[in-house]
Amino acid sequence: MNTKASKRKFSGAEAILETARKCNIGLVSGVPGYPITSLMNMFLKDSFFSDKSFWVTNEKVALEMALGASVTGTRALVINKHVGMNVLSDPLISSTTHTIGAGIVIIVGDDPGITASQNEQDSRYFGTLAEVALFDPAKPQDTATALSDAFRISEKSHSVVIIRVTSRMLESLQEVDFPDSSETTATYDLSIWDYTMKGKHQLFHAISYPYLVAESEKRAASRLSENKEKLGIVSSGYVSTIVDEVISKNKVNCSHLVLNMVAPFPYKAIRKFIDKHENILVAEETETYLESHMAMSRKVKGKMTGHLPYGIIVDDDISTAISEIDKDQVRATRKIETIASRGPRPLCEDCPFLPLYRILGKLEVPIAGDVGCLIRSAPAPLRAVETGFALGSSISVASGFSTKGISVIGDFGLAHFGIVGLINAVQLDSDILIIILKNHVAAMTGGQEAPDLTNVVRQLVEDVMTINADDESEEELRKVIQGKLVRKGISVIFIEGKCTKYCDDEEM
Ligand code: SF4
Repeated sequence: MNTKASKRKFSGAEAILETARKCNIGLVSGVPGYPITSLMNMFLKDSFFSDKSFWVTNEKVALEMALGASVTGTRALVINKHVGMNVLSDPLISSTTHTIGAGIVIIVGDDPGITASQNEQDSRYFGTLAEVALFDPAKPQDTATALSDAFRISEKSHSVVIIRVTSRMLESLQEVDFPDSSETTATYDLSIWDYTMKGKHQLFHAISYPYLVAESEKRAASRLSENKEKLGIVSSGYVSTIVDEVISKNKVNCSHLVLNMVAPFPYKAIRKFIDKHENILVAEETETYLESHMAMSRKVKGKMTGHLPYGIIVDDDISTAISEIDKDQVRATRKIETIASRGPRPLCEDCPFLPLYRILGKLEVPIAGDVGCLIRSAPAPLRAVETGFALGSSISVASGFSTKGISVIGDFGLAHFGIVGLINAVQLDSDILIIILKNHVAAMTGGQEAPDLTNVVRQLVEDVMTINADDESEEELRKVIQGKLVRKGISVIFIEGKCTKYCDDEEM
């Protein structure tokens, strides 16, 4: 029985928070990044969750804390952006074989269209890779249902469940019937250690995975359209909402199968849907997770056939794809975006690190950058750094340079993963200059506090100096950097500067 909420509309983010209150969650661990920073901030400010919610240094740590909560009988929620799935994938994938206790749900925010990310990856694939249940809700109501179901499914399958969200879904509004509260009775079963690793995985495939498949098939079948129109559309996530709007606005005669749970893939329900229609359009963001499961049928059209673009989908894309559905292949026409066509996203005019970037842009050595504000120093006119592979990657990348080079990394990036790269560089006796931008915050994601690792770095490296960006002239800073570049071994320069966007004077 559901509790009917008032007629008030809830955003997708509010639907998650309201449902979470009913799920008896004891730990919420998150890592900042678009589009989930504002969702996590809601938990941090909520009177029920504020003392249970924490920003943590990286997503692997966030999931490992959740695993600890789970084995001691406490439900946990992990909130991170899509690239965080790469970081937490190690304990995630192993946890399926290992088994867990109380339920764990990961809410992952994807960024179709790359508003503020380093890539456009599609987190739904982690459902398949980790062999766990994955929901891709279209609307706030689907999200509330998914979160409540996810904890039950997690506890019954002894595995983590993932819910993929996007910014447009989190911001969309809908009246919501909130599911009843559900208490946990699940405990971590130590008899799992009676099995070998192979035996644990066999046990998972004998019991848990068939249960997950049945849950997925049951949900897909309940949304199966019975009419036998020419066109059937299969969608998941926020794109389902766009498809509904296009069907209604253009009075399109078709069936629409909206999938909420997409992993394990509901093959039986999808086969039935394909059989009932002459043409199938698959509408999804950002890659071809659904379509690639269905593409053996020539009826199936989508991104792989050029009917829809890769990445973000808008209503015009759906209308055009429907009008061309009888074609086997369509030529993609989407323009490739450049910084000139989109418009630059410059650094703040009063950023304390601008003199450093100007110096770096004129040096003739390889320079590894990192993810964060400093990535904006890579394009012209500064051209300060050459790479920005992942948050915290800079020191390891510079350790691999074939000649002496520079690593530039923020203090949050250092704590996130860079410190592991530094330990490795020390172990290998690397020959690099490491410049750590110490502004005490994760500026790119909204000013979350960054731990101060100065003393930890001093324990690892002999040649460490700190420069205050306000006290040193550009010329003096250039001389210091050039002096360190002719020195053999690892040198570290902390450049202390106030992030004018997120730091008050008292915080420095
Ligand atoms: S947000 Fe802070 S660190 Fe980032 S560019 Fe602006 S002043 Fe610099």
